[in-house]
Amino acid sequence: MFVKNDLKPFSKKIYLSSPTMHGEELKYMTEAFRTNWMSTLGENINEVERIAAEKAGVKYAVGLSCCTAALHLCVKFAGEKLYGRSHTSHGVLEGKRVFCSDMTFAATLNPVVYEGGIPIFIDTEKESWNMDPVALERAFETYPDVKLVVCAELYGFPGRIDAIKRICEKYGALLIEDAAEALGATLYGKQCGSFGDYAAISYNGNKIITGSSGGCLLTDDIEVAQKARKLSTQARENAPWYQHEEVGYNYRLSNVIAGVVRGQYPYLEEHIAQKKAVYERYEEGLKDLPVKMNPITEGTEPNYWLSAITINEKYMCRQVRNETEATYTKEEGKTCPTEILEKLAAINAEGRPIWKPMHMQPIYRGNPFVTVDHAGSVGEDIFGRGLCLPSDNKMTAEQQSIIIETIKDCFSA
Ligand SMILES: *Cc1c(COP(=O)(O)O)cnc(C)c1O
Repeated sequence: MFVKNDLKPFSKKIYLSSPTMHGEELKYMTEAFRTNWMSTLGENINEVERIAAEKAGVKYAVGLSCCTAALHLCVKFAGEKLYGRSHTSHGVLEGKRVFCSDMTFAATLNPVVYEGGIPIFIDTEKESWNMDPVALERAFETYPDVKLVVCAELYGFPGRIDAIKRICEKYGALLIEDAAEALGATLYGKQCGSFGDYAAISYNGNKIITGSSGGCLLTDDIEVAQKARKLSTQARENAPWYQHEEVGYNYRLSNVIAGVVRGQYPYLEEHIAQKKAVYERYEEGLKDLPVKMNPITEGTEPNYWLSAITINEKYMCRQVRNETEATYTKEEGKTCPTEILEKLAAINAEGRPIWKPMHMQPIYRGNPFVTVDHAGSVGEDIFGRGLCLPSDNKMTAEQQSIIIETIKDCFSA
């Protein structure tokens, strides 16, 4: 039906994942405007916190300016609990090692570094594309002093976060769960964001639901929730004047942004269903190609935020990447992520390489990295052979079939 190399570009770009508004968002924003609750107090924030906690099945949610801010507070609280409060300008994790997901977005572990911690990267499990519990266990044996783990769920497809939690308990370590990409995903019926001692979710513009920005810290501990509210509003003590006993932040969620988030929550399940349909159409459309979709492991119900593939090794043409550029040498019947991304861009569709593992990043080159695969790093392999596909929930089946044909073409020519 389609002539090879003759696919017309989409007149409107197909995004990896873009915001999807419904109307109620504007109603709640307007309500904030009309009633003049235009700051970091108001009904929208209260409602977002109530819904976020209820949805995740945790006792408390604290609305914050972004998920990175939520993770920063998680790191502060975990660090203080483990090592005591820092009374100097040094971070609460100064010189302390922390086990971190390797194949994730840098925001997962940036807050560890803000607080002076030293990330030790834990390799990825082949079966789930998430932190490898076996590698984590090995890491605890090698570094018995470590008391904190920061683990992210990749692309909304949970890995073995339950096993990670059990290992943390066995070694007396605290777990911070970065569920930024996994809002609404579950493992054995339990929501992502409810596994960590502390957890964070995101309402960034490209996530499954959005406020344009924003996030929440999730916890079952009322003291943690109270402390998050205090530290996110400049750490004011209860006094008639501005009284301070500790350093604070300006991290609170705006009531206007919260209006957008509040209007989005009722559509979370709809967005998940649409993303699932995208994933399943790729699975069906690409089934005769030598590729694998990002895996769904036993007991998990993903939110299908991003669909991704890896190209089977034998069908990879030569691809060379330096720090900022990539090239490839075309071979018949073979392709590589660089070529597929190029061909997608040519039809005005947005793909993206797999998140480049942290242990491969120039900034972390000196940090330890723990793997179980003697052949090398699982994350490095997935990064080399994988890519995220256009996963926008507004993409039509017809548009997606053109994307699928484009990918198929890469394997023929
Ligand atoms: C998007 C994202 C974040 C950061 O979320 P913000 O709300 O933009 O701060 C953190 N971790 C992961 C894994 C993410 O994908």
